[in-house]
Amino acid sequence: MNRYFNMKTNILVFLIFFTTINFSLAASVGGDPPRDPFVVVLDAGHGGKDPGNSWNGYSEKDISLNIALQVGAELEKIPDVKVIYTRKSDVFVTLAGRANIANKAEADLFVSIHMNGHRSQAQGTETFVLGLHRNQDNLEVAMRENQVIFLEEDYEMTYDGFNPNSPESYIGLTLMQEEYLDQSILLADLIQKNFTNINKRVNRGVKQAGFLVLRETYMPSVLVEAGFLSNKAEGAFLNSAAGQSAISASIVRAVKDYKNSINHDILDNLEANPPVQLTQETEEMPLDVYDGITFRVQLAASGKKLDPSSRNFKGLKQVSRNKEGKLFKYYYGATSSFSQIQDFHEMAKRTGYPDSYIVAFRGNEKISVNEALKTKTK
Ligand SMILES: [Zn+2]
Repeated sequence: MNRYFNMKTNILVFLIFFTTINFSLAASVGGDPPRDPFVVVLDAGHGGKDPGNSWNGYSEKDISLNIALQVGAELEKIPDVKVIYTRKSDVFVTLAGRANIANKAEADLFVSIHMNGHRSQAQGTETFVLGLHRNQDNLEVAMRENQVIFLEEDYEMTYDGFNPNSPESYIGLTLMQEEYLDQSILLADLIQKNFTNINKRVNRGVKQAGFLVLRETYMPSVLVEAGFLSNKAEGAFLNSAAGQSAISASIVRAVKDYKNSINHDILDNLEANPPVQLTQETEEMPLDVYDGITFRVQLAASGKKLDPSSRNFKGLKQVSRNKEGKLFKYYYGATSSFSQIQDFHEMAKRTGYPDSYIVAFRGNEKISVNEALKTKTK
């Protein structure tokens, strides 16, 4: 009896001991003492077979890499900061691969660095957090950056059937980063403020759009578009050593300020500063909007009446059908912006409609594109 009692006690003591260990393990894993070091993942956009934007001989993959390496070299000087790069040379890394590097490292921040491009002479910097785009421009930036998955094998599996060209794909991917949204916006805002106040760049604001690389990360994450390579002056600035070090310095400073505000009294900070407003998108209308004109991309004309669903048009959505005379015409996209319809046209050609072309309507009347372009712009 006694012996039995002792054994029972021993088991009980053992159980209590064991449970306590488990508890303290759980506490140290689940608790929130500040982690040491502060891990920053720097993601130079594109690389290898994916050059990214290329304008006037300026290459996005090279400039992004230069800036990422410079940012990293500065941040590495801070004793409690650890820097991890998704690439340090001109190699191809998949979007999921980039996010995996950050997730494995349990990084505190993910900063993806890119250069913009546009047919217009648009200029300025913008920093994105993951979210649903509020206008076509933002969607197009994300679409462009997401195109790269077509260079990956098994991209359909890797990204759960995500189609970079389908606006519908973008709805639903935005929840993934919600937990980190406030912190991501905080960093994005710091970066934009530095670009504007220190570097005197045109401020296009803090924005939201569906970037796959941001969807895959489990930490505060931003995607910086540091300027337009397509703009003559800005492209030259970004391609210069002085420009690259100016942009790098602003990102470094923003990461430092972010780290300090997280470590210290972030609550005080949040009370002192009103929450960051996302950029009002109404002022972002493209400059080439033609009054009363609708541009479309003609994909096909046929005597056959087809359902304009994506199934019948190689996955393209936003396809419409119009009966004109004896023929049914099938159009992709509808916009008053000529640069937007050019982007739709590019997409149509890439998707398998090499002979598609742009058409223009005034109301229901089909007019020539030349005539449309003579209309006054808004
Ligand atoms: Zn890019």
